[in-house]
Amino acid sequence: MLFKKKKIERHVSLHRTVLDSILSYCQMKHPNEGILILKGKSKQGLVTIDGLVIPPFNYTGPTFAGFPHSFLPFDLSYVGIVHSHPSGSAHPSVTDLHNFFGLVSLIVKSPYSDNDIFAWDSNGNEVPLSII
Ligand SMILES: [Zn+2]
Repeated sequence: MLFKKKKIERHVSLHRTVLDSILSYCQMKHPNEGILILKGKSKQGLVTIDGLVIPPFNYTGPTFAGFPHSFLPFDLSYVGIVHSHPSGSAHPSVTDLHNFFGLVSLIVKSPYSDNDIFAWDSNGNEVPLSII
């Protein structure tokens, strides 16, 4: 369990340009889910996201999105993933929590506006998110 550490308060900061890229990617993928890898850094619970990577061999449909983790290069700048919920729910599903990757999981719900993005930790607790 690489990321299991003692409990610390998390906070996510997302660069404005990255948010815009996420929102347009999810709109493009609609009505299927879109999935992207979040790049950034983590320091004392603060996760700063400043880039995106399209996962290799990703597969998506209306109610699922994923990618084989075994194809990912080992990269410490991968802090989590973001995926969309075309159904309009911002909450992580049981499957989402089982497939949790990295430190934080962002979910964008339809219709993919600035207020439709939420951050979650691996326990399904909401993490405060700010746009910088
Ligand atoms: Zn999901």
